[in-house]
Amino acid sequence: MRRNALIVAVSVLHAPFGALGFPMQQSILHRGKAIRATPPAGESREERLRRRELARQDSNSDADKASSEVGTLVAQIPCACRSGNYYGACCQPVHESLGKIATPEQLLRARYSAYVQGNTDFVIATTHETHPEFTPDLDAWRAELTGFIRSVEFLTFEIVSHGVVNATMEMLTWKAQMKVLPDLLSPEKVQTKEFTERSVFVREEDSEGGGDGRWFYAGGDEDFEPTNVLVKGPKPKRGPGDRGNGDKPKARPKLKARTVAARK
Ligand SMILES: [Zn+2]
Repeated sequence: MRRNALIVAVSVLHAPFGALGFPMQQSILHRGKAIRATPPAGESREERLRRRELARQDSNSDADKASSEVGTLVAQIPCACRSGNYYGACCQPVHESLGKIATPEQLLRARYSAYVQGNTDFVIATTHETHPEFTPDLDAWRAELTGFIRSVEFLTFEIVSHGVVNATMEMLTWKAQMKVLPDLLSPEKVQTKEFTERSVFVREEDSEGGGDGRWFYAGGDEDFEPTNVLVKGPKPKRGPGDRGNGDKPKARPKLKARTVAARK
């Protein structure tokens, strides 16, 4: 399948921090509301048309201004990847380029902050086709990602180590804590879990060519056992045929890579 099919349009304001509940766009657009003037008496047709044209230009520039104000404010929010930088100086340019301008570490951070923001298009566009969850059915994929995002609250994220395999493969080990909300009506069932994974990133020549190609997330390294540890909350009950930890192990891609160098 062509990579281009995955390059779907995405806007920074697509679900703008919806999970965090910032009603930013509305409050700014209210300020940009146009105020209509009463037409002056004895106005000629030319004068009326000229006045309308000026009003139209004014209203367009109000909309542009409001939109750029939204962009500026969004860029000044601390980045959801917890780098300590502002979004505009961290994951925003990576999101806007759909990952084309990212190193593996920037891509990992931007994928995490895309999860926090509910930006499923970015997650999809930066997933390599060897990933077990890769599917050309984008609607189903988006629905699955949205279901996952709505069932968790993202708490912490940390990159633990970085290994370079070769020019087209790098690995990053990370850990993240999340509150898992199995049922919104049962807050007593909420668990805090810590996930650890060594992620594989592969670089591929873009179909558009140019440069050294771009990085994609290919999944967890098969030589690293990912962990999913209960930090706080009730232990899941054992059911018939249950493995006990309540979590299905995820299939991992068959990659013949090994980390040859790991640096902190
Ligand atoms: Zn970031």
